[in-house]
Amino acid sequence: MLQVPAYMLTTGPVPAYPEVLRALGQPVLYDYTDAFQAFYQSVIEKLAQVMRIGNQPVIMQGEAILGIEAAAAGLIARQDVVLNLVSGVYGKGFGPWAARYGREVIELAVDYDDVIDPQAVEAVLKQRPDISIIAVCHHDTPSGTLNPLAEIGAIAARHGAYLIVDAVSSFGGMDVYPEAVHADIFITSPSKCLGSTPGLTLAAVSDRAWQKMAGYPDAPRASFLSLLDWKEAWRAGNAFPVTPSVAEIYALNTALDLYLAEGAENVWARHAQTAQIAREGVKALGLELWPRQEATAAPTATVFKVPDGISDVALRDLMLRDHDVLVSLGRKDTAGKVLRIGHMGASAQSEFAAKAVEALAGALKKLKI
Ligand SMILES: *Cc1c(COP(=O)(O)O)cnc(C)c1O
Repeated sequence: MLQVPAYMLTTGPVPAYPEVLRALGQPVLYDYTDAFQAFYQSVIEKLAQVMRIGNQPVIMQGEAILGIEAAAAGLIARQDVVLNLVSGVYGKGFGPWAARYGREVIELAVDYDDVIDPQAVEAVLKQRPDISIIAVCHHDTPSGTLNPLAEIGAIAARHGAYLIVDAVSSFGGMDVYPEAVHADIFITSPSKCLGSTPGLTLAAVSDRAWQKMAGYPDAPRASFLSLLDWKEAWRAGNAFPVTPSVAEIYALNTALDLYLAEGAENVWARHAQTAQIAREGVKALGLELWPRQEATAAPTATVFKVPDGISDVALRDLMLRDHDVLVSLGRKDTAGKVLRIGHMGASAQSEFAAKAVEALAGALKKLKI
């Protein structure tokens, strides 16, 4: 057996809830049965309730990057001009997909410790009224910063642009809902704040986005990138496009039950409180948060600067070796500069944030800072 740290305070995947792990161990039911189709439909309906959407969400069989690439492939047509908002690694990563499918991609970028200014979005739209799609990552996890999604969504709606949102590491950990932010495609994952296992994409798609995709002959069909293939696959009599990961659907179902039983507001409060303890602890150790403005720091991950003269890997390894606390390194542009403490799903617990700070203090002392 692999050894899993006692405190896996990573930014995804996260430690799954014990109930979720037990659900994974249930016997795998053949998917071409009425019982499985009815179960799948019940999970779709539960997910609609959790996402607070009026239509049916889609579950795709692959980690959330699949859904984000699928959103580009399905929604961005050859004549579309895309405004890609970039405040971090994931936002940046969307650009090449948008460029693959659209006519032009306009990038509005800020430093990766900063967030998108809604007024700057307005200004670009004024200059380029032909922008038809806007893409944004809500919580760019390698930076731990939150973009002002509600404002951006309202601007997109006023402009009439379709909005693609990566809410993978914020949904379920705070108050963010697809319809409230006017998202046309809203992608999240079970393996972050919902505390399930990696392997699925959860997608909310607006009615007008379904219409756009259905009317676009180049939107993928018979493809892993096809959202359309999954739209009604679960309805009785329809075959799934490919065999669904039955065990992961069990796990998701249990994670959704846990979320509903605890109550969304209580789950968010638990995340917010954990993050606050982590931020205060990190600052009390004399360290600096990575986000330029603390108000933009996400409630689902605390990202702080690694002090000069110290290796991020050495610090991370000492926290693990001496305290059994595993945190995440930075990623791409933030690699080597930061460490990240995740507060997502089962790891969003005050005592875990305190434990992370204790481990950090001990490791820093050993490194003589
Ligand atoms: C985790 C994450 C994803 C999904 O990445 P995977 O490699 O598919 O797990 C997408 N966007 C953000 C912001 C994330 O944090």
